[in-house]
Amino acid sequence: MTDAVIPLARPVLGEAEERAVIEVLRSGQLSLGPRLTEFERLFAQQVGAARASAVSSGTAGLHLALRAVGVGVGDEVVTSPFSFVASANAALYEGARPVFADIDPLTLNLDPDAAAAAIGERTRALLPVHIFGYPADMPAFERLAAGHGLAIVEDACEALGAAHADGTPVGGRGHPAVFGFYANKQLTTGEGGMVALDDPEMKLRIDSERNQGRSPDMGWLDHDRLGFNYRLSDIACALGIVQLRRLEQVLLARRQVSERYREALAGIDGMRLPCPEEGGLRRGWFVFVVQLPAGVDRDRVIGALAARGIQSKPYLPAIHLMSFYRERFGHREGEFPVCERVAASSLALPFFPELGEGEIARVAGALRSTLEP
Ligand SMILES: *Cc1c(COP(=O)(O)O)cnc(C)c1O
Repeated sequence: MTDAVIPLARPVLGEAEERAVIEVLRSGQLSLGPRLTEFERLFAQQVGAARASAVSSGTAGLHLALRAVGVGVGDEVVTSPFSFVASANAALYEGARPVFADIDPLTLNLDPDAAAAAIGERTRALLPVHIFGYPADMPAFERLAAGHGLAIVEDACEALGAAHADGTPVGGRGHPAVFGFYANKQLTTGEGGMVALDDPEMKLRIDSERNQGRSPDMGWLDHDRLGFNYRLSDIACALGIVQLRRLEQVLLARRQVSERYREALAGIDGMRLPCPEEGGLRRGWFVFVVQLPAGVDRDRVIGALAARGIQSKPYLPAIHLMSFYRERFGHREGEFPVCERVAASSLALPFFPELGEGEIARVAGALRSTLEP
């Protein structure tokens, strides 16, 4: 008998979600209905923001947030090369240029000193990413932004449930902070996203631009600016409301899985585990990514795990070394050595709230026997 395959991620969805979706279907109002405003209000409360705008994806949220802070053609946005490609792409949508700076070797987040060195005449905004749910050093970026007159947009797509050292939840510092609700995230609506923010004018702009540029007090067909269709349906919002009710439990289960992994994987020579939480901050556990020992052939490890029914994947590749970015901007190896070293050795292991102790032991055993033959 072979064991069932252990997937990389699996959402927690139950009868409450089914009921909520059916209720919306039966109501006949599938979009721009009561679930939308309710989900926004509850989500803003959750992350300590004054308000929030639901959108069709994290990527759409990043796009509208960059527009809302005034990023446009010819501007530069300083950001991390160690991220999901969407954070850099969002700048390109507006004809702006993502300017990368290297990451901190421990937290894997954009290094504030490197970001400072990357600021130039055309820099308009900073776009730190809370990678793997670990809070970026926002106080440092806020000082930098104030000193240079820059806007901040936070990519918090991996960081729901995280908190800074001063206790502020990630997303609650006032700048637009963007969350994502794809099925592998801490909260899912299938596809979806949210921009948490303080400024009421900015919310009006985002709400209009997600809805074809329609102004809130005008009729359906009156459009006073360029907009997009980045709406999130009431079906998705109803899912999100139920998922918010589960959130504390899901975050706790994720934390427990991370702690079990940490014990099960301790002492493998040269392998690095996710960095511990420093100075009272809290990670919103999103993935469990290890850095393999130097010289280990990652593809061989992935193959050996797959042969034992365990999914794993390189996570994340460096954005500047993707073929599209190389060709468009002439990036090459060696520009951001920390990011490149981490990107070359990092491996995401199966990670989700319902990952059991037996499965964790199976993953750890397989990894150990592959690395310590
Ligand atoms: C998930 C994610 C996004 C947004 O993804 P969507 O699929 O558009 O919701 C953006 N940035 C990071 C770092 C992410 O992990």
